[in-house]
Amino acid sequence: MQFNVAQLLQEPIGSTRRYDLIEEISQLDPELEALGPLVGQIQMLRTNSGVLVTGELSTALRVTCNRCLAPIAQEVRFQLEENFHTLTEVHTGRAIDPQEFEGTLAELEDDALLIDSHHILDLSEVIRQDLWLASPMAPGCNWDGEGQCPNLTRYLTELENLERASGQPADDEPPVDPRWAALLQLQTDDPEDD
Ligand SMILES: [Zn+2]
Repeated sequence: MQFNVAQLLQEPIGSTRRYDLIEEISQLDPELEALGPLVGQIQMLRTNSGVLVTGELSTALRVTCNRCLAPIAQEVRFQLEENFHTLTEVHTGRAIDPQEFEGTLAELEDDALLIDSHHILDLSEVIRQDLWLASPMAPGCNWDGEGQCPNLTRYLTELENLERASGQPADDEPPVDPRWAALLQLQTDDPEDD
């Protein structure tokens, strides 16, 4: 997801580029499991202090249902809008004064938004962050997000049937694990009595 913007930076303010993206993102983040490439279209606009990148991107991530832990495919879609900036002017090499920068101080201080000295604009980090932000906090197997998780309902029914088959009521208190029994015994012993 690296773009050489040397040419664009030499063009007048307002110049644009448009790219269709089909990006392999399996190596982007070890915690993000992509089921397909990241696809979409981005536009780059030459600004006074760099390049404004906008676009709409989407992919599918493998996530687990918040309720039954079953793996599910989750479509993730997000709008990209980031102000990348350069530290030097590409044609003169003149250092750009921070006051010339269009954007917030947070953007100026964000290394992910810096076009490097080889005029490479790298979208990887902002896209990685956007994927996390666009991912649902509590994904569920029910795609409409309403009602009970169908898998969880099925598992609970199966569990109840198993317990019924083994002759134990489903709401019976589980027996104490023998490994804990010794500890529980220690806890109930009062040391003052010794
Ligand atoms: Zn589920």
